[in-house]
Amino acid sequence: MKAVTVQPGVANSFRFEEVPEPDESTGSVLVQAVAVGICGTDVDITSGAYGWAPPERERLILGHESLGRVVDPGPDPSLQAGDLIVGIVRRPDPVPCPNCAVGEWDMCRNGQYTERGIKEIDGFMSERWRIEPGYFTKVDPSLGHLGVLMEPTTVVTKAWELVGVMRARAFWEPRRVLVTGAGPIGLLAALIGVQEGLDVHVLDRVTEGAKPQLVRDLGATYHSGAISDVGFAPDVIVECTGVGSVIIDSIRLIGAGGVVCLTGVGGGGKSSGLSPADMAKEVVLQNNVLVGSVNANRRHFYRAAEVLAAADKDWLGRLITRHVRPENIGDALQRGPDDIKVIVDFEAGA
Ligand SMILES: [Zn+2]
Repeated sequence: MKAVTVQPGVANSFRFEEVPEPDESTGSVLVQAVAVGICGTDVDITSGAYGWAPPERERLILGHESLGRVVDPGPDPSLQAGDLIVGIVRRPDPVPCPNCAVGEWDMCRNGQYTERGIKEIDGFMSERWRIEPGYFTKVDPSLGHLGVLMEPTTVVTKAWELVGVMRARAFWEPRRVLVTGAGPIGLLAALIGVQEGLDVHVLDRVTEGAKPQLVRDLGATYHSGAISDVGFAPDVIVECTGVGSVIIDSIRLIGAGGVVCLTGVGGGGKSSGLSPADMAKEVVLQNNVLVGSVNANRRHFYRAAEVLAAADKDWLGRLITRHVRPENIGDALQRGPDDIKVIVDFEAGA
């Protein structure tokens, strides 16, 4: 079979090449790939900045935003041939740490977890892949190919779960939410905010293209320009840009008792005049919470399936702005100005 492979640490080493069929030791469920989404982590890996090959190997099969069709369910009674499933990305560390031991591998404390398509285990960008029972989520048949949005949705179901946990801290009825960044993560965060009945605002740099209309079509409010110009103090900010100045401005803008949930992973950049002590003062005097969110466990995949099943299918479909065949993986990794989510299609007509 063929797969998109990459040599982690080596820029532009990706290729669509012949590889062995997936080994039975990688799971009793045999799956035929339907589609795989591309995200910033894939770009980081193919640029040589991130990623780890399996032990004793140089190359890794890329891809962690999966959608596949079951070919052989093996002994798993919950599955039938033809079911659409999405693979969970992370696997618990072998020690295991207390969090991995209870199934919270997204909260792994020793860093020895592995991740399909990212860290030491093959991803899903192969014509066929295998998976272990318990490490996938079934896709509602009404979603079909939109199931490829499941994994990015888990990122924000976890973020919203963390925001919800803060209700235990004090009397708190969040109403107004600001999402910074209208990429796939930001738009899916906004979708959940709207589903929860909140007054959702989304800020991005662009003034035209699909993003402003997607936000409006959710029933949310779109803002472009400076974060300080949104004109209100949000109860919740879901930060999806990873840009330093946006993070600092979010801490400045958040209302008293509010929560800033950081989901973006950036790096570097200039500080904009707020020292660590100044930042601490803002957070302390306003009882704010800063919380980071990464990865997802089984519970977040379950919730993401509910979120997508309840969403407008046409709206979800508009998040997918480009389809690319695996032999043209290089095109998929180039982000165009109008791209939201780019999908690598393994099935013709996907
Ligand atoms: Zn762990």
